[in-house]
Amino acid sequence: MKLLHEKQVDSLIVSELNQHLNDRSPQEILSWAWATFKNKIAASSSFQSQSVPLLHMIAGTTPKLPVIFLDTGFHFPETLQFRDELQQQFGLNIVDVRPALNPQQLVEKHGEKLYERNPNLCCHFNKVEPMKQAVKGLRAWVTGIRADQTSKRRQLKVVEIQDDGLIKIHPLLNWTKKDVWNYMDIHQLPAHPLLEKGYVSVGCAPCTRPIFAGEDERAGRWANLAKTECGLHT
Ligand code: SF4
Repeated sequence: MKLLHEKQVDSLIVSELNQHLNDRSPQEILSWAWATFKNKIAASSSFQSQSVPLLHMIAGTTPKLPVIFLDTGFHFPETLQFRDELQQQFGLNIVDVRPALNPQQLVEKHGEKLYERNPNLCCHFNKVEPMKQAVKGLRAWVTGIRADQTSKRRQLKVVEIQDDGLIKIHPLLNWTKKDVWNYMDIHQLPAHPLLEKGYVSVGCAPCTRPIFAGEDERAGRWANLAKTECGLHT
C-alpha cells in the first residue's frame, strides 16, 4: 500500500483514498494511518464490548497509538473497570479526556438532569466539546464505528474529511456485528461486564438501557428519543 506524507493527504481526493482502503483489513488500515499521520493521530473508544476487536488490533498493530476515552462522569462503574482491565491486558496507551465541568458543576450551572431535559446539549458539553479539544493539533482520528450500526453510519466511507480538515478513519466500517463476535471468539477476548444483562451497546448510564430480543443493537441508547448519535460522528 502506498504511504503518503501527511501533507499530501490534503491534496488527495478522499474518494481516491477510499478506493485504496475500502477492501483492506482493519489492521492494514490502522498500519497505513499510523505510518501516514505518525504523531498527529489518535483513536477514540467507548470501551464497550464491540470496541474490543479494534482495541485488540491497535495493541497488536499500532500499540503507541493514543486511545482517547471520553470520561463524561456519567459512565457505569463497570465501563471504567472494563477500561482499566483492557488497558492492563492489552497495554493500551489510553488518554482520559474530561469535560470542563464535572457532573456536580454541570448541575450547579445548568440544573438537574440535563441529559433528560436537553440530551443534545448534555452531549455537546460532555462529549463533543471535550473531543474537539482533544483532537486539536491532530490530523487524523480513528474510530470504531461500523456501517451496519445505524442508517446514518451506513452512509459513511472508511476515510472522511471534516470541514476543519481533520481526517476521520473508520477501520471497521465494513465489518458486521457477526464479524465482531467471530473475532472476539477466535481471540478469546473479554466482553463488557454488562453484556450479560442485555447491554449490547453501552454509553452513559442515564442514557442506556438493555435491549430486548429482536431490537437493534443501539436501541438501548437514548431509548424513546429520536436521538441516535451523541454528535461525535455527525
Ligand atoms: S450520553 Fe447522556 S449523559 Fe452522556 S453526555 Fe450524552 S446526554 Fe449526557
